Amino acid sequence: MSKKIKGIIASPGIRMGKAYIHKGISIIIPQYMINESQIENEIKRFVEALEKTKKEIVAIQEQIADNLSKDMADIFRSHLFVLEDPLIDNRVEETVRKEKRNVEWVLNDISLELIRGLSSIEDEYLRERIIDFSDISKRLINNLQKNDESNIANLDMEAIVFASDLTPSDTAMMNRENVLAFVTDKGGRTSHTAIMARALEIPALVGSIYGTSIVRDGDLVIVDAIHGEVIIGPDKEDIDSYVKCQENLRLLEIDLAKLTHLPFVTLDDVEITIHGNIELPIERDIVKEHGAQGIGLFRSEFLFLDKSLPDEENQLKEYRKVVDYFNPDPVTIRTLDVGGDKIFSYTDDYKERNPFLGCRAIRFSLQNIDLFITQIRAILRASYFGNVKLMFPMISTVEEIIRAKNIVYDIMNDLRRERIPFDANIPIGIMIEVPSVVINADILSEYCDFFSVGTNDLVQYTLAVDRISEKISSLYNPLNLSVLRLLKYIVDIANQYSVPLSICGEMAGEPKYTMLLLGLGFRNLSMGSSFMYQIKRIIRSVTIDECEALANEILCLTKTDDIEKRILSELKTKFPMMDI
Ligand code: PEP
Ligand code: MG
Repeated sequence: MSKKIKGIIASPGIRMGKAYIHKGISIIIPQYMINESQIENEIKRFVEALEKTKKEIVAIQEQIADNLSKDMADIFRSHLFVLEDPLIDNRVEETVRKEKRNVEWVLNDISLELIRGLSSIEDEYLRERIIDFSDISKRLINNLQKNDESNIANLDMEAIVFASDLTPSDTAMMNRENVLAFVTDKGGRTSHTAIMARALEIPALVGSIYGTSIVRDGDLVIVDAIHGEVIIGPDKEDIDSYVKCQENLRLLEIDLAKLTHLPFVTLDDVEITIHGNIELPIERDIVKEHGAQGIGLFRSEFLFLDKSLPDEENQLKEYRKVVDYFNPDPVTIRTLDVGGDKIFSYTDDYKERNPFLGCRAIRFSLQNIDLFITQIRAILRASYFGNVKLMFPMISTVEEIIRAKNIVYDIMNDLRRERIPFDANIPIGIMIEVPSVVINADILSEYCDFFSVGTNDLVQYTLAVDRISEKISSLYNPLNLSVLRLLKYIVDIANQYSVPLSICGEMAGEPKYTMLLLGLGFRNLSMGSSFMYQIKRIIRSVTIDECEALANEILCLTKTDDIEKRILSELKTKFPMMDI
């Protein structure tokens, strides 16, 4: 009998193939003393490993520049700096000579010492080097031991890759010909790996928890990154339904591609604004090609994958790649949202008992003012070059927005003094992600030029369900009546107080919810490109009246199951071809 495991959809699609278990690099550090006559040989081993590692990094860079973009390749430039840093080379050499210990042992000790001892240092440049050094020292030690890295880039047969976790470089280096799909035990929808998967258009599930413990090398598996499951050892029925689903998707794609140049407008002529959600500037093209009329959510935290936030000039450069490109259409840049499931190297020392309820997003920015000021300066400067909106994540109190805005106004005054141009009328708004701000939305409306509903967090905070916990994922449901009531309430308040409103959580980008959201009163949806065509098709096939009737009916149902069934039956009747 076939087995099924669930996963979080990182990149949509459905594939069948043989499983390949990626074991990654497992490092054992040998520790032994050497004698005087072995010293030169030990240093030679180190120099050779250094050279080999440099070549590997350059090859990774080139491959990424060819396959993805130069921006992504630049992520690895800092690794090269580390390899060329005399701080490391000289210390390793000196210690080997003086203490007569083997080079892996010395290198590992220096790495740990640097990471532990200097991670709290203020100097940003030095901190970055240490983070890079941790990655690079693993690669170096691996090369010293002449281990052949288990590398998915060299996969010489078509396979579905299962891994405990994948680094961004593993993912970026994947051979698209042979990697049909991948599944990781760890990681959330917004992990770096998930972002890379979307950029490469490889179907992927993350957070499967049990994937690598259940699947064996060579098992036949179906990765269904449409419904979020892996079928291991599929039976005839599973395979038939897979073939049908593939065919439906193919036909749907042909059909939907015809919509490319048509506007997002309902049958009764109500125009719906569709914006894109992006994590990296390179995604701007794909969302625009799918019809996005601007960016509703630019998640700035993903700009620099392996490092701390870049300086003002570099941030400005990154923001301008999107702002200039979309000008005069709007680009909503969200300030840093670290914490929760987005733990970055520079927040490692920041252990939280309840990460999603801890020092996350605007709370982190307000406690790390220098970092916040740098980001706001860069966003304001970018505003001069296009139509920029500034958005704060996870606001939960009125005081926070007042404080954040006061900082923005102070920075505006600095920029004026420095004669640096910016858009003085830049709209400043907030994400609606915490129930407290829905309840106080009338009060917050006074301080906000716009609201954008982040349902990913609003659902988790309303239902008290960790959005990435596999164990309680069945409780995480945007169709819970409490969430729908909050959505309806926020629409009413936004209308009453004339605050422009959009919705940018994943709910906005899933065809299943489109009619309901239109019926609740949303007219601006911001989403990734994956389902933009399907959503356009739905928008163009419905009237607002029928969406409102559906929403009103649903708001009278009490059980989530009944709500779900009602929506699905409506969609199955109206869109039998869509696998929603
Ligand atoms: C959300 O919470 O809905 C949202 C869009 O923000 P993120 O997923 O980045 O937390
Ligand atoms: Mg959020």
